[in-house]
Amino acid sequence: MITDSLQALARALATKEVSSVELTRQYLDRIARRNPQLNAFISIDEATSLAQAGAADERLAKGEGGPLTGIPIAHKDIFCAQGWLTTCASKMLSNFVSPYDAAVIARFKAAGAVLLGKTNMDEFAMGSSNETSFYGAVKNPWDATRVPGGSSGGSAAAVAAGLAAAATGTDTGGSIRQPAALCNLTGMKPTYGVVSRYGMIAFASSLDQAGPLAHSAADCALLLNTMAGFDERDSTSVERPREDYGRELTADAGSRPLAGLKIGLPAEFFDDGCSPEVMHLVEAAIAEYRQLGAETVAVSLPSMQLSVAAYYVIAPAEASSNLARFDGVRYGYRAPEYQDLNEMYSKSRAQGFGAEVKRRILIGTYVLSHGYYDAYYLQAQRIRRLIAKDFAKAFQQCDVILGPTSPSTAFKLGEKAADPVQMYLSDIYTIAVNLAGLPALSIPCGFADGLPAGLQLIGDYFTESRLLNVAHRYQQVSDWHLQRPAGFS
Ligand code: GLN
Repeated sequence: MITDSLQALARALATKEVSSVELTRQYLDRIARRNPQLNAFISIDEATSLAQAGAADERLAKGEGGPLTGIPIAHKDIFCAQGWLTTCASKMLSNFVSPYDAAVIARFKAAGAVLLGKTNMDEFAMGSSNETSFYGAVKNPWDATRVPGGSSGGSAAAVAAGLAAAATGTDTGGSIRQPAALCNLTGMKPTYGVVSRYGMIAFASSLDQAGPLAHSAADCALLLNTMAGFDERDSTSVERPREDYGRELTADAGSRPLAGLKIGLPAEFFDDGCSPEVMHLVEAAIAEYRQLGAETVAVSLPSMQLSVAAYYVIAPAEASSNLARFDGVRYGYRAPEYQDLNEMYSKSRAQGFGAEVKRRILIGTYVLSHGYYDAYYLQAQRIRRLIAKDFAKAFQQCDVILGPTSPSTAFKLGEKAADPVQMYLSDIYTIAVNLAGLPALSIPCGFADGLPAGLQLIGDYFTESRLLNVAHRYQQVSDWHLQRPAGFS
């Protein structure tokens, strides 16, 4: 009964073809079978998940509930979930059971979705390969010798391998889109402020944004409908009227459904930074978009080349401040032996954080310190402004921007682990979007040597529904998103 689309699962639940308890049981069995190899989950709590499924079945029996009622969904272990171990894949939080629900978790709960488990990730969401997790690396279901991408790699691997119907992720510099690309999924980072960050463990607060990972754009629309919404507990949450993100998907628009759409192709996305195999697939997708009626225009994002440098000043700066709260006193790991308070702090942090997290804290503290603040942090903020201006200018000429999501397909485990700069460059096409706060998604666009590649679509602020529609129209005429790795069923 593990079918692919959330709509199909919802129909099966509504017609009583399957109950939520049966469906949840099937996913839990698959997790028990496949997770030892993939390592996609950090925690599973069968009894709690099945109890939620039972409650969902009761709602369904009364004819209540919505499109996600009874559907098992996995959540990145960055979201606090009441009564669940919530680790952010760090030793620092390896003993932390959250006393409350993040806004995202609460919204899925209210919708009647089943919390299937908490997924593995890079420690504190810092990484592009899921190798920085305290709980060990996640394997890519398409090739277990390769990374699934990061930092939402556990969520991506779980959905790609059929261990969850859909999952949540967070994207600070590409962490939803890049793993989606490497695992053949559709993943969306909404406009900054659309999804509440309340209860989402903070990495870089001005960049962090939660979003869905699923097989199709239609599924992502359903998930976003549940996740999005104003929350007064997050001061950056945007107050806007509710919208149905899937509203454009159902219109019958004929054989040229994207007629009139202008797709911007930035020169900076089509340079030699991208591998020829991925570029070839992106070019083929552009041809498909022309068939669908879209027209392409050349645009330019000249400041984008500075985005990785600016990000690796701003994100660590914010991280160094956000992670100051992990001091061994209030929650989390405390070193077992120390002489005095200062030693308790320093030993707890030295033992509780992994190498990449420490590197970010060091960089962040440095760029914020007296004398360097102007030289690094303020300069990076200026670049951020220039990047946002580049996008604003480009969106005067086009409706969406298209390019690759990741410069390569999934790389080998260990291949970039020793070279942080190489690792940081995996996000070269995604980071500028976070710096500008724009919405973007990644969709499957083909395979190179059996490994999936992702196509990125970027929209202007709050154009999620159009972006999802542009993705959906491509998915109606392509079947890349329907491909499954061996061992899926
Ligand atoms: N790979 C980037 C980093 O390491 C982005 C991570 C993310 O989006 N959370 O910071």
